[in-house]
Amino acid sequence: MKKNFIYNLKEYAIKNDVPIINDEGLEFLLELIKTHNVKTILEIGTAIGYSAINMAHLDTKIITVERDYFMYEQAINNIKESNLEENIKVIYAEALELEITEKFDLIFIDAAKAQYQKFFEKFKINLNENGIIVCDNLNFHNLNINEVSRGTRQLLKKIERFKEFLENNDEFATTIYNVGDGISVSKRRMK
Ligand code: MG
Repeated sequence: MKKNFIYNLKEYAIKNDVPIINDEGLEFLLELIKTHNVKTILEIGTAIGYSAINMAHLDTKIITVERDYFMYEQAINNIKESNLEENIKVIYAEALELEITEKFDLIFIDAAKAQYQKFFEKFKINLNENGIIVCDNLNFHNLNINEVSRGTRQLLKKIERFKEFLENNDEFATTIYNVGDGISVSKRRMK
């Protein structure tokens, strides 16, 4: 039953061009949750709740933020159907305008790619001492920068700049994994 619902959700996303994490990326993310003993999660970019529902099945508590009302509504319904309302709270908001005081073991950034650095810098204070910040789509579907529209080219450049920001960060040590669509894992450096 549970497996079926998740499968249908994935099918729906693919048919309707809803960006969801791919299978390999999801598996990697769930493995990180287990190995880092993650109990609490802040997710930026709910979409239809696909990743949140999968993460909640590992007995985690999640706050997830979505700025698109249509997506937000679908996420609410999907979470209800999964009986995960106790685990997942969806907030309809523009993440950069959201004030949040709680701290989390994992911050998962999977929203507007052009804003990744802003999300990272805004929400790092919400990370527990030994927590991790994970960002999805750093390969951005492996698009060739010379074969895309101008808008997409700007986006690819922003993602490259974000990677440089991670590589040159004094506060966080980051590894970028070539799994899924490219996933970074950042941890606070030891003082
Ligand atoms: Mg994504």
